[in-house]
Amino acid sequence: MARSRKTAWLKDELILCLDLYRREGYSASSSSMAELSKTLRSIPIEQELTASPSFRSKASVGRKLSNFAELDPAINTGLPNGGAADKVVWDEFSDSPDLLRITAESIRSNIGEMKKSILEEAGYEVAEAPEGRVLTRTHQYRERNPKIIEAKKAKVFDETGALLCEACKFDFDRVYGSRGTGFIECHHTLPVSKLDPGHRTKLDDLALVCSNCHRMIHRKAPWLSLAELKSIIRRYRERLT
Ligand SMILES: [Zn+2]
Ligand SMILES: [Zn+2]
Repeated sequence: MARSRKTAWLKDELILCLDLYRREGYSASSSSMAELSKTLRSIPIEQELTASPSFRSKASVGRKLSNFAELDPAINTGLPNGGAADKVVWDEFSDSPDLLRITAESIRSNIGEMKKSILEEAGYEVAEAPEGRVLTRTHQYRERNPKIIEAKKAKVFDETGALLCEACKFDFDRVYGSRGTGFIECHHTLPVSKLDPGHRTKLDDLALVCSNCHRMIHRKAPWLSLAELKSIIRRYRERLT
C-alpha cells in the first residue's frame, strides 16, 4: 500500500530518530542531526519530495526528537505532541536498546544499497515488518533473486527428488502435474534486522514454501517464523483427525 511521505514519516525514519534520541537525547548535537537529516533525505522513496530543502530537515529531526522526549517517562515535558506512529515505535523499541541499535544499523546500511526500483516494486501483498519498509523490501528482494532460488531448488531436488513446501508439504508437481513441475517459492528465514548488505544470501537462509504458506507468513506483522507456521498447520491437522 502506498503511503505518502508528505503526510507520514516512514517507520524506518522514526526508528532512526529514536536511535539518535537514545544516543544523544532531545538536544542532540547539530552535526548528528544534520547527518540524520541527510540519511533520511537519501531514502529512495518518492525522491521528488527531497527537492524541497525543508523535507526531513535538521529542524524536523529536532522536532521529532522533542516528540520522543514527550513520550519519555524519564523526561515527560508535557502532553505528547507526536502522532500515533511515534508512540508505536517508542513502545516497540524504547525498552530494547540492543534491538533498536541493531535495527537502526541495519536500516542505515541497507539504505545505501537500495535502488528506487527495489523500494517501489509492487510485489505480492506483504505486511510491513516491524523494522520498517527498507528492511521489508530488502527481505523481498533477497528472496526473489532468481539465481539463488534456482540454486536452492536444484539442491533440494538433488537431495530429496521433490520440491515440497517445508511448512505444509504441498507438492506442486503431484497436484498440478507438468504445470506445477519445478514451481515453488523461497522465503528468506533470517530476521530482517540481521540483513546487513555484506551478508550474501546462503542456500541455508532460504526455505522452500508454497505460495499459500508464504503469503500467510507475510500477511501480518510481525511475520511468522517457519516453526510458528508449521505449528499452526499441525494444530489444524490434529483437529481434523
Ligand atoms: Zn505450504
Ligand atoms: Zn518471505
